[in-house]
Amino acid sequence: MIYFQSVTQSELAKLILPLGSRQSRRDRSNLDALSSSVEWQPTERDIKTARYRAKQIFHWVYQRHVFEWDQMSDLSKDLRAWLKENITVYRLSERDSRQALDGTHKFLWNLHDGKTIESVIIPAALQEKDADEAAALLEGGARFAGKASDEPVTSEKWARLTACISSQVGCAMACKFCLTGIQGLDRHLETHEIVTQVLELRRQAPITNIVFMGMGEPLHNFENVVKACEIMLDTDGMNFSKRKVTISTSGLVPAIEELGRRIDVSLAISLNSSTDEQRSAIMPVNRKWNIEALMKACREFPLSSHRRITFEYVLLKGFNDSLEDAARVNRLVKGIPSKINLIPFNEHSGSVYKRPSDETVRAFQKYLMDRGLTTTVRISRGRDILAACGQLRSIFGTARGSDRHKDWQPEVVNQ
Ligand code: SAH
Ligand code: SF4
Repeated sequence: MIYFQSVTQSELAKLILPLGSRQSRRDRSNLDALSSSVEWQPTERDIKTARYRAKQIFHWVYQRHVFEWDQMSDLSKDLRAWLKENITVYRLSERDSRQALDGTHKFLWNLHDGKTIESVIIPAALQEKDADEAAALLEGGARFAGKASDEPVTSEKWARLTACISSQVGCAMACKFCLTGIQGLDRHLETHEIVTQVLELRRQAPITNIVFMGMGEPLHNFENVVKACEIMLDTDGMNFSKRKVTISTSGLVPAIEELGRRIDVSLAISLNSSTDEQRSAIMPVNRKWNIEALMKACREFPLSSHRRITFEYVLLKGFNDSLEDAARVNRLVKGIPSKINLIPFNEHSGSVYKRPSDETVRAFQKYLMDRGLTTTVRISRGRDILAACGQLRSIFGTARGSDRHKDWQPEVVNQ
């Protein structure tokens, strides 16, 4: 059985091509059918039909969110029967979900082997006053669409709804400050497990952006992530613009280069330090590809006009939060069209690091802004629901080792 979300539109067209041919063979004369059954070659028309059918199926699943083959009324009976037998629309079942007062909504999903992953919806308000209004709504018990809520906060209140998704169960990169890193890598996610996170979230809210900033190092799971991006960008699939899909990486240099050759999406780099000594101490990946190699890959990364690389910088108190650090960051990104995203450390029990004071964060930001660098501070969204990387998962005891729920059976989720 093939999972629908793991095939691209052109792969699907190839899979269903022989079906159309059976039909066209039936239409031809007997003699014709006899000779063509020896070695059948698809005609132009067969190929066109298969492409058209694949497009129709993509629309049903990704744009209309219809997951039952029988409900796809404009497909032939034969095709529906074949789909039923050979392809399944993958579903994630929700193990838990929690919403913070700022609208951040975190989901913990059960995978089919009992492991768990997280995705988060992060809303960005249009204006402060709208944010306040939305917060009041949420305090009154409102939730995203699809849930028990009269007025979903999704509507016009939010300028952006970003889906923050996972690419692996755990992560092998072992960054010292990161809870997922402490848990280690369990396994890569398959393409369908990546794509379905967005599909499930989209059924709940009109997601506008996707960031690979949940659990895992996306470029370590390269092929599955690239294929998932192709499906997200497909205009007949999820139809996200390339500017709105961002891959965040800890800095796997050869994979960054390959990414630039393979697919046009936005890139975010977890810089997190201003010297090699500092970076190697918290990010082991830096011992293999140092800051110089990383910055060279960024300089050479193909960027179309008006696009920039985002540099994420987790601020750890007394470690990398001085103005000398800010000065070095400024020098490092010189010449690269960039924006800086400062992330005050989200404290958790698995780490000795602390979050710097708001004044330190503001001073760091001001230093960079005064030098003309677009610098945002990621306000600690969803702190009250443990929204930092890997945290929801950890409180359920589903981290490495205890990850297998033997009694758990895949659930058939109705629409
Ligand atoms: N593995 C990828 C993407 C997932 S991590 C990467 O490292 O880029 C997404 C971001 O969360 C990274 O920038 C990482 O530095 C940051 N992060 C991880 N744990 C954090 C924490 N406890 N507090 C704040 N930011 C954290
Ligand atoms: Fe992995 Fe990113 Fe966490 Fe580092 S910060 S351990 S790369 S998820």
